Amino acid sequence: MSSTEGTSRNVIPAQLLRGQKALVTGANSGIGRATAIALGRAGADVVVNYVAGREEAEKAVEEITAFGVRAAAYEADVSVEDQVVAMTNRMVQEFGTIDILVANAGLQRDAALTDMTLAQWQKVLDVNLTGQFLCAREATKEFLRRGVVPEVSRAAGKIICMSSVHQIIPWAGHVNYASSKGGVQMMMATMAQELAPKRIRVNAVAPGAIKTPINRSAWETAQAQEDLLQLIPYKRIGDPEDVAHAVVGLASDLMDYVVGTTLYVDGGMTLFPGFATGG
Ligand code: NAD
Repeated sequence: MSSTEGTSRNVIPAQLLRGQKALVTGANSGIGRATAIALGRAGADVVVNYVAGREEAEKAVEEITAFGVRAAAYEADVSVEDQVVAMTNRMVQEFGTIDILVANAGLQRDAALTDMTLAQWQKVLDVNLTGQFLCAREATKEFLRRGVVPEVSRAAGKIICMSSVHQIIPWAGHVNYASSKGGVQMMMATMAQELAPKRIRVNAVAPGAIKTPINRSAWETAQAQEDLLQLIPYKRIGDPEDVAHAVVGLASDLMDYVVGTTLYVDGGMTLFPGFATGG
């Protein structure tokens, strides 16, 4: 079972984020791509960040501009400080400001603990955790500089961190990834506490199993799908749009009083599905 793209895509109010400028990292693929497009559909101007795969980024830009908003593709490695600083400065110059940051870029380098190299550990921490820190820090400087513009949003800025159900579910063979997402949870909550008095809202979205290139092996074969569905009470694998819609909601003033929360978008994966029959 899976929702059709058409039905899940067309539910976004077109003016929800009108006049807002959104930066989405890792937006040339999977969840980031769907999120960038959904933000555009909601009326935001969007910067599509990518580190490799310019063509895909340009295609996303084309899809977004078809909604009558502005979009551009910016290359930057989110784990490299100079590149993040240059990207956010460029966005402020070319788009005027940043209202919404979706810190989405992420990757996996899987290995059993005793086989995991320091390089594999470090790469995942650098991109998944340090990358979000750098982007959040730079976006926050702009939020603080500009302050609240009531005609645009009740908040001075919104940060949505892309976490994972593995911020609370341990994951054998993925100690680097699970640790990075556990870190994202605490980083998000700490930033939320620190920045709320400045009217900056920081929240996270924690996807479960979403069909994207990052987890191809988990849904590619019929057997893999069947195994995966055992872990999902709602009995369907998620679409990138399922996550994108949660991000659009959190970024909007509809959720202006939501601060420091993780929204699980997981079909119930965090409900200990094994206990439905056992325990
Ligand atoms: P994906 O592989 O399709 O997308 C990841 C994106 O991040 C790609 O565009 C990639 O190029 C980009 N990226 C990687 N390193 C980067 C860097 N250094 N700088 C800039 N961009 C970089 O996978 P996805 O599933 O869309 O993953 C997006 C986010 O969602 C990740 O943070 C991932 O951990 C999270 N997530 C995904 C799932 C899932 O089931 N797919 C579940 C939980 C969390």
